[in-house]
Amino acid sequence: MKHAIIIPDGCADEPQESLGGQTPMQVANTPAMDEIAAAGVVGRANNVPAHLPAGSDVANLSLLGYDPNVYFTGRAPLEAAAQGIQLAADDWAIRCNLVTVENQIMRSFTADHVSSEEAKELLNVVQEDTGEGPLEYVPGISYRNLLLFRPKNGQAPFSNDTRTTPPHDLTDKSVADDFPRGPGSDLLTRLMGRSLELFEDHSVNAARVAAGKLPATNVWLWGLGKTPQLTPFHQLYGKTGKMITAVDLLRGLAALIGWDRIEVPGATGYTDTDYAAKGRYAVEAISTTDVICVHVEATDEASHEGDVAAKVRALEEIDRHIVRPVLEALKARGDYRILVTPDHPTPVRTKTHSHGAVPWCIAGSGIAPDTNSTYDEPTAVASDMVFDDGFQLMPYFLKS
Ligand SMILES: [Zn+2]
Repeated sequence: MKHAIIIPDGCADEPQESLGGQTPMQVANTPAMDEIAAAGVVGRANNVPAHLPAGSDVANLSLLGYDPNVYFTGRAPLEAAAQGIQLAADDWAIRCNLVTVENQIMRSFTADHVSSEEAKELLNVVQEDTGEGPLEYVPGISYRNLLLFRPKNGQAPFSNDTRTTPPHDLTDKSVADDFPRGPGSDLLTRLMGRSLELFEDHSVNAARVAAGKLPATNVWLWGLGKTPQLTPFHQLYGKTGKMITAVDLLRGLAALIGWDRIEVPGATGYTDTDYAAKGRYAVEAISTTDVICVHVEATDEASHEGDVAAKVRALEEIDRHIVRPVLEALKARGDYRILVTPDHPTPVRTKTHSHGAVPWCIAGSGIAPDTNSTYDEPTAVASDMVFDDGFQLMPYFLKS
């Protein structure tokens, strides 16, 4: 049997005044998703335990059928995996944002979208200052960089009790109470403070300020962890899988569970992504794997920008260019199941991820239809198909 999963990231939302009291999912014209709802089952699942951060990392781990209470170790190791960085058992990966902090206020968690070239220059300076040792700065894309701690003697100062704050949660807020806390936090705080001194008079920042851009004032270290030991998906569920995504986090997760990644030209992780290309690549991949998973970030990005209309539009594009062709290709094969679900809600009101259940719909072989014919939040809330532990949805979806 062939399985397809389509993830419109963060698409679950609240009723909108501008939409006459309806949610973007209710208003969007999504005939393919509604066909799945009518032919199958609509329910809800909670992918983020209350005590864990409401991020795509935790939520997608659940969605892919892994208990985040057991497996979640932090964001940075997932991004390291996406970049093909092999971490030893004692190594730690730390997310290293370039940020703009002025008067103790987080002005920009992206350092005003600092370029990759500028980031590389700045990271060279802190690396030289640190010298040869356990610390290794790894330039990435723009403000999204990594710092590795590879202990020579097997000892790192961090533990699971080390606490950090994502800089995107601090936008326009004071950073004073949100420096790293717990084991090893003095090292992280010292590195952040040292970068402030080294970046202050750097030519990169002089040029940025001259061009009317915000300077990259310092590094912000967060999201640290060791590589999670994820049992391969095939071993757990007896099926192979492939992932289509433009987001490093999902690439990393796929790599760690033993799935192939399919890179689609024109996939941007933004609302201008090439939806049709993603749909085409997904359809092509069906014959080469048991589970094809297509993740689309555009719905989440629309929420981060507080743009209801863009969110509705993104849902319609996903339905038309991805869900529809994948559904038709599966139907033509005969024996299949299809699942559509976001990872977590991202309300446009708050412009950020939230805890709480998300609606899902499943149709295909062996799934007896319920009475629901639309796929949206109210239908899911009324359903008695509920997975309080979101990682239980995957075995339900795959069970023959
Ligand atoms: Zn997400």
